[in-house]
Amino acid sequence: MARYLESVCKLCRNEGEKLFLKGSRCYTTKCAIDRRRYGTGQHGQDRKKQSEYAVQLREKQKLRRTYGVFERQFAGYFEEANRQKRVPTGLRLLQLLEIRLDNIAYRSGMVPSRIQARQLVRHGHFTVDGKRCSIASYQLKPGQVVSISEHSKKFIKELIELNPATGAPKWINADIENLRASIINLPAREDLDQNVKEALIVEYYSR
Ligand code: SF4
Repeated sequence: MARYLESVCKLCRNEGEKLFLKGSRCYTTKCAIDRRRYGTGQHGQDRKKQSEYAVQLREKQKLRRTYGVFERQFAGYFEEANRQKRVPTGLRLLQLLEIRLDNIAYRSGMVPSRIQARQLVRHGHFTVDGKRCSIASYQLKPGQVVSISEHSKKFIKELIELNPATGAPKWINADIENLRASIINLPAREDLDQNVKEALIVEYYSR
């Protein structure tokens, strides 16, 4: 399994905005982008005029990196979103990313970052409808219950104490006390990050 091994803060600096990849550290003065609001490397501070293509590419990379998805898998999500015609492709793409098991573990407040959530899911700490599930990309359906394996509950509670949950979005039913969460309904566009310009990503893949 491929893994990104460099500092994730570099990803934020290169995208020019916070992607919140490091949990509680992102809200402190230690955040790298608050300290150095320019790209990494020798030309990081150069001001460049971006082409239309570059703008679309950056938006795609930003979203892909936010969810920690590799290129091929992200393209697969786009294809799946594009196949169905009931929901706008951009919204469906966002929904497919949001209903990943690692994302729900993060959004519900059980784990402070998506990166940590992915690692914990892979290590078998999470269950779906009572069965252990170690697939971070597992697509949850409304009503399915995400919880913690019995032997991991103490550890996850300690993690929550160190990183108090900020509150789950309204489309997720999160019971932090009992370490359980489920999707109530798929998120509408207004429930999701307003900074994402998904139309640019649709344009990127439609070239
Ligand atoms: Fe990005 Fe968080 Fe690092 Fe700040 S601390 S640069 S938001 S990953």
